[in-house]
Amino acid sequence: MALSEFALIERYFRSCGVPRADVILGVGDDAALLRVPAGCELVAATDTLVAGVHFPQDSPPDSVGHRSLAVNLSDLAAMGARPAWALLALTLPQADEAWLAEFAAGLGELARSHEVALVGGDTTRGPLCVTVQLLGFVPAGAALTRSGGRAGDVVFVSGTCGDAAAGLAVEQQRLTGPAEARRWLRERFLRPTPRVALGEQLRGFASACIDVSDGLLADAGKLASASHVGVELAYSELPLSEPLAALLGERHARELALTGGDDYELCFAVPPHHIARLLSQLPPQEWRYTRIGALRAAPGASVVRDGTVMEFSHSGYEHFS
Ligand code: ADP
Ligand code: MG
Repeated sequence: MALSEFALIERYFRSCGVPRADVILGVGDDAALLRVPAGCELVAATDTLVAGVHFPQDSPPDSVGHRSLAVNLSDLAAMGARPAWALLALTLPQADEAWLAEFAAGLGELARSHEVALVGGDTTRGPLCVTVQLLGFVPAGAALTRSGGRAGDVVFVSGTCGDAAAGLAVEQQRLTGPAEARRWLRERFLRPTPRVALGEQLRGFASACIDVSDGLLADAGKLASASHVGVELAYSELPLSEPLAALLGERHARELALTGGDDYELCFAVPPHHIARLLSQLPPQEWRYTRIGALRAAPGASVVRDGTVMEFSHSGYEHFS
């Protein structure tokens, strides 16, 4: 690499994100030394983004930086955790300084907005691949998990669903329509908003929580099966964005809301006796979440429309081919 590995780390990653008092040693030593607050448990997640697999090869570099952290922030949000420290394992074909500057800007901006410090990593040469590990904490015993749901719990999802899958189709020029709607959907894919504050707030309410990365139906199904129950979603209640409905029409938009990935919304279950308090303390208009169904004793995940169970193919892609 033209730029030495040392110079590259110094220039782009030594002071990425925020400085934090609980970082005893960050970038520069053999490992980071971090102080977990008393009474808290450490929460750890990692996710890899491979060029050409998880994002198009020619994605805007700041979007690659943003998404590599966002997917991990979303995992911590689903645990009800507060993010604190990130590590970055970066594999690059070459030290392209323009690419690196934008990548670090995208990663750094999202890190700062969640008060995350980049405390270490690894830099190697090879096909473009980005792995972020994110560490955070929760008060001991208070983490949300996938497995705490019970039959009868009400199921909610944050934000709107299906946007990112449509946004990826826009990015790959597989979807046409009004420019403003396409721009908005593309943004939902390139720069997803992890629901970190909502996840923390849900600690007192949710019995189970998962972030939606593979598609709402699949992920709600994973939450249900981890909780040893099933889930029933109401077709007409699925939250759709206006741009998605405008571009795809309502039927395809609802199918994509169920099957499209990469939205990074939170799907969570709330016991009936917590609902009134949830609705008053976290007003849905302000916190942007929607009631979409319920957990039930019978296993599996199904979608109900006007009292009948719908059949679903799990391939949102078909609609753009
Ligand atoms: P070692 O060979 O001991 O693993 P490195 O030379 O790989 O050390 O890294 C030196 C320091 O720079 C370490 O503190 C490491 O965590 C940090 N580092 C390396 N690559 C990155 C990166 N891409 N982002 C942030 N920190 C990095
Ligand atoms: Mg070492």
